[in-house]
Amino acid sequence: GPLLAARDLVKSHGRTDALRGASAELHAGEILAVTGPSGSGKSTLLHCMAGIVRPDGGSVHYEGLRLDICTEDRLSELRRTDFGVVFQFGRLIPELTLTDNVALPLMLAGTSRREARARAGEWLGRFGVGHRGDARPGELSGGQAQRGALARALVTGPRVVFADEPTGALDSLAGEQVMAELVSAARASGAAVLLITHDAQVAAYADREIRLADGRAAAMEGAI
Ligand code: ADP
Ligand code: ADP
Repeated sequence: GPLLAARDLVKSHGRTDALRGASAELHAGEILAVTGPSGSGKSTLLHCMAGIVRPDGGSVHYEGLRLDICTEDRLSELRRTDFGVVFQFGRLIPELTLTDNVALPLMLAGTSRREARARAGEWLGRFGVGHRGDARPGELSGGQAQRGALARALVTGPRVVFADEPTGALDSLAGEQVMAELVSAARASGAAVLLITHDAQVAAYADREIRLADGRAAAMEGAI
């Protein structure tokens, strides 16, 4: 069965119905693109599946666990150990160097600062930004910051990476490079990726695509 499954999700933000019965399944190691127009509920679906937001209705199953009803403690633990997240603008912590940004998730999981910084350096090197480890996010180009965000999402060895428009702030060349690097790092580590994008060229990197319209899965497409 799927590693992560959302069934019939309903979620309102005030009077806006962001999700109206959305379902999606993510299998182990799979790269799934969620596409659809702005406002169709893509981010809300990702937030519900990542345990960041609780749906008003429906369920989210991660292996044997009901994410939508489990405790906050269990959710924060899962986010540290099993899940990695990449957002559109990286959202690195501006006061920390790039190395410390990437080391932080490991330190929160109990790794020593020295060991965490060493592993952060390896991941930054893998994404071609090893030489920028001492820079702060404000000193990085958009592409360098997104590579740092990828390193931060993957450094803990997650089983699922949630990527919400990871290339949305980049030009198309930098976006394609970052996407190719995300896909190859995920394949190498066996992580599944839930990828939100409105860019067909980015969606083409996925194994499968789900299209949302008005808070529901409108169509499923097979392997691309
Ligand atoms: P997408 O990612 O496809 O653009 P979202 O899930 O971000 O869609 O948003 C779905 C709908 O819910 C939109 O109408 C959006 O404006 C609304 N929405 C999303 N988040 C919030 C929020 N925190 N408060 C109010 N409305 C929101
Ligand atoms: P993302 O990069 O995740 O798509 P957005 O720009 O859609 O980010 O949303 C950023 C934040 O603002 C999210 O927490 C989202 O829930 C919230 N948000 C989105 N749309 C609205 C809205 N119409 N009203 C209030 N908050 C919103």
